[in-house]
Amino acid sequence: MKLTLTTRRLELKHTWTIARGSADYKEYNYVALEHEGVIGHGEAAHNVRYGESLDRIRKFLEDSRPLLRHADPWQFHDLSARLHGWAEGQYAAKAALDIALMDWITKKLNLPLYRFLGLDREKTPRTSFSIGIDKPKVMQEKIRAAEEFPILKIKLGGENDEEIMRAVRAVTNATLRVDANEGWKDREQALDKISWLAQMGVEFVEQPLPAERLADVAWLRERSPLPLVADEDVRTVKDIPQLAQAYDGINIKIMKAGGLQESLRMIHLARSLGLKVMLGCMVESSLGITAAAHLTPLVDWADLDGNLLIKHDPYRGVKVQAGKLLLPEGPGLGVEAAN
Ligand code: MG
Repeated sequence: MKLTLTTRRLELKHTWTIARGSADYKEYNYVALEHEGVIGHGEAAHNVRYGESLDRIRKFLEDSRPLLRHADPWQFHDLSARLHGWAEGQYAAKAALDIALMDWITKKLNLPLYRFLGLDREKTPRTSFSIGIDKPKVMQEKIRAAEEFPILKIKLGGENDEEIMRAVRAVTNATLRVDANEGWKDREQALDKISWLAQMGVEFVEQPLPAERLADVAWLRERSPLPLVADEDVRTVKDIPQLAQAYDGINIKIMKAGGLQESLRMIHLARSLGLKVMLGCMVESSLGITAAAHLTPLVDWADLDGNLLIKHDPYRGVKVQAGKLLLPEGPGLGVEAAN
């Protein structure tokens, strides 16, 4: 397979702020895998939270050329294992290659990815729409602009969580999910926040405490009136068994996991341990978001709105209607260039 690399800058509609920082744009690597006249496409939406950068992702992808040149794409299971075993980290790079590989396979078979996986496109859940941290007045404006979404994910974890939530509830009756992004510093503070949020009609809370504090999360879960969902605490399949004692669910992201195949393994393991499953995303174009959307008939909750936060999406794929994810029916991911 021949690998072609490009980079693109995605400008954001609004400055995106969560508990750990702000951004006005994202710049990512994109891959194309060509073989026998068919091209599979992938996106590497890396995240500095996980020690990734544009340059390091690019280096990993460049270094993978010899392996890809001689690989048989039909042995995609082995190829995925070799990419994961070959170097530590750089999960967004592994994800880009795995997305492109699965796009290639299913284009070659002339099947939409969800059909290849045996899934029912009617069973996609409704996605939440995320509201980044901002001045309460601005958050209210963003919520009014997002009125078609029946589920909102509110980013908290700062100084003025209560002020934000009151402002949010004043303008919407939508189902609310809260993501603290590791922003609360100890279990007592988190319990106070969660007990208060339960009265605000919140459905669940994501990553209340900094990662790797599972004993504190287990303490919190025993007392919490709301389900707790791991995000920064979970990356790949090997993280999951220990989380079952502390959390009610996990947030899987293809970019964290290193691809679609690893995400599928995670979904099945989490289910077998009685965990709920959310499929989430980074800020991504419709290429990465559509890849994730093909797996959503298997999950409880979707948070696939990263493409809706960018100004000029370079791709077209999954659509959203009143929050419901509508999978494209074309072969492969069903993703096309936007113009
Ligand atoms: Mg999160």
